[in-house]
Amino acid sequence: MGAALEESYAARWFSNGGPLGRRLEDRLAARIGGERAVGLVSSATAGLTAALLALDVRGRVVVPAFTFPATLHAIELAGCEPLLCDIDPATLELCPRAAAAALGAERCGAVLHVRAFGLCRELSGIEQVARAAGVPLVIDLAAAFGGREPSGRPVGHAGDVEVFSFHATKVFAIGEGGAVAAGTELLERIRHTGNFAIAGSDVTARGLNAKLSDIAAAIGHAMLDQLDQQVAARRSAAAELLLAASSLGARVPGAGAGMPPWQCIPLVLADAGARDGALASLAADGIEGRAYYCPGLHRATAWARQPARHLPGTDDVAARSFCMPIYADMSGDERRHFGASLTRALGRVQVSRDTLADAA
Ligand SMILES: *Cc1c(COP(=O)(O)O)cnc(C)c1O
Repeated sequence: MGAALEESYAARWFSNGGPLGRRLEDRLAARIGGERAVGLVSSATAGLTAALLALDVRGRVVVPAFTFPATLHAIELAGCEPLLCDIDPATLELCPRAAAAALGAERCGAVLHVRAFGLCRELSGIEQVARAAGVPLVIDLAAAFGGREPSGRPVGHAGDVEVFSFHATKVFAIGEGGAVAAGTELLERIRHTGNFAIAGSDVTARGLNAKLSDIAAAIGHAMLDQLDQQVAARRSAAAELLLAASSLGARVPGAGAGMPPWQCIPLVLADAGARDGALASLAADGIEGRAYYCPGLHRATAWARQPARHLPGTDDVAARSFCMPIYADMSGDERRHFGASLTRALGRVQVSRDTLADAA
């Protein structure tokens, strides 16, 4: 670790904007490719908040109820109000039709799309909806760094800005941290917002502290050196588990989900009983599957004040989905154990007959 921080010692710079952080931003941007620039942030939550503030979004923000709470917290921290919308059960993501209906019925300041579980779908449907309504599109792709859309393009280019998390639970993990990918002009505004909106001796807008230290960036460099290897290992383990799950009739992410880095493998079963039975069966084998994003956030106490919303797609998926864990460093034995255990679990319960549709 000492060696990794040599540049920081040489520059006597360990906080934000140091040599390691700036170089990591360049490496991350090179990896994403294309026109976008990348800025490091202290977390995805802070990055989303800074992005909404930098875009000067006000009022309601269209957002799926099927997400991690941070997505909604960021909207409220930016002084806006989440307008919880339904997902398409086939894609697990904000349904463009539901988003268009919400934008048509109420004045909204933005759409915040979530790439569920880091899946890497092509997002032109939701991009069109946001463009038609004349509002910015912010994308929470917390778990997707290292993934590619079905076209092969790395994620990070959709909407106005895409926000990654580098939290310990993600595939690209540095403890706490994240990054935003945006055009250079918007990225400058996000940096400004995330640095207390200070401009010389003036403060020009609402802001926050969204900065990442150079010490965290040093970990990012080490992580980036291993990312391809880790993603390849996850992909190969995921392919086996996806094959086992789909051969038993579970709904699995198809080709429309692109090439995710596979933080976990989302599976949808026939009903809640099947899901709970599969989780219990895995647990008996020492494997901790989890029902992430469940229940939908329209059912959380914090957002119970929201006008009562009928979100059948969210309720349906939240009741019968779970995530199968996978790791980059699984031995052959562990992979066989996971495959056998998943096969056993799904064999015991009623799986679903339909398939997770490829997003059009
Ligand atoms: C992990 C996660 C977050 C939160 O990321 P932090 O970097 O911990 O703030 C936000 N949204 C989604 C969808 C996540 O999975």
